[in-house]
Amino acid sequence: MAERNDKPMHSGAKRPHRKVCQFCADRAEFIDYKDVAKLRKFMTERAKILPSRVTGCCAYHQRALTTAIKRYQSFRERN
Ligand SMILES: [Zn+2]
Repeated sequence: MAERNDKPMHSGAKRPHRKVCQFCADRAEFIDYKDVAKLRKFMTERAKILPSRVTGCCAYHQRALTTAIKRYQSFRERN
């Protein structure tokens, strides 16, 4: 799976410029785990957390996102 190197010089498939963290753009200080519509953009259909290189989140918000999604997952299991 990780055999291919991401070469920045020939990354035709990648976005031309770096993604900006959505939560920084929104000036969000915390991520609400009940905001499923927003969380869905950052996880798979099976509620798995997408890596930050996919989400484009900064380290701070990626961590907040991980916490929010984990909370959502346990919330979902209980209901
Ligand atoms: Zn951020």
